[in-house]
Amino acid sequence: MSWRLVLAGMGLLLLTACATSPTGRKQLLMVSDADVNRMGLATFQQMKASDKLSTDRQKAETVSCIVRHLVAQLPTQWQTLDWETQLFAIDSANAFALPGGKVGINTGLFKVATNQDQLAAVIGHEIGHVIARHSAERLSQSVLAEAGMGLVGAYAGRNASPDQVKQLVALLGAGTQVGVLLPYSRLHESEADRIGQELMAKAGFDPREAARLWENMIQASAASPNPPRLLSTHPDSRVRAQALSTAAPALLPEYEAARRRAAPRCS
Ligand SMILES: [Zn+2]
Repeated sequence: MSWRLVLAGMGLLLLTACATSPTGRKQLLMVSDADVNRMGLATFQQMKASDKLSTDRQKAETVSCIVRHLVAQLPTQWQTLDWETQLFAIDSANAFALPGGKVGINTGLFKVATNQDQLAAVIGHEIGHVIARHSAERLSQSVLAEAGMGLVGAYAGRNASPDQVKQLVALLGAGTQVGVLLPYSRLHESEADRIGQELMAKAGFDPREAARLWENMIQASAASPNPPRLLSTHPDSRVRAQALSTAAPALLPEYEAARRRAAPRCS
């Protein structure tokens, strides 16, 4: 598998850099954007090869349209990534965005995200993880931990075990496909919420729908023996819905201005 080779290349990752997240938080990064993007691409290709792809063209066009509108509002360095969107025929409500601009949506998400604004809330949040370099940060943190040193050593020596490969893919934020779930930290979650909601408003999606989406998700989880996958990797949903609801009014002027310029019509 070519992505194993890519992961093996991570032995070169020990270059340290201080970065600042979009919300102004200082970050210690030991992995370059180029390396993380390569890993994101390799993981995405593997998921497209192994998971069932949806043939629902209408839904696929809806999510591509939302991604286009959101990406158009990103700082230039992020806009110019090779953004790609894939709809998977998977019933569990889930979405992810991998470093390098690779967005995956499960058809099951449409059951809880009932309009384009709620879909934009999920996708904006996932894009928030990408532009805040959360994967690189998690990789760096695991490198700093002793376990991480073992991981990196194994990749450098190109003798990573399947479990180590799974662990690394999970750190990228795509753990569901390989069966490892690794929730982001509360800090990363609230940062992605904040970035995603601002992005929604700038792109002309109603920022009030972000809180409603998480409420839907909580209801769906109470009503079903198989709760939305997104919930298991996104803890504290109620607290976050409350924070999103509190933040929405301040974003309404931007949202309304964006709608006057060009209101998105994705569904
Ligand atoms: Zn998240």
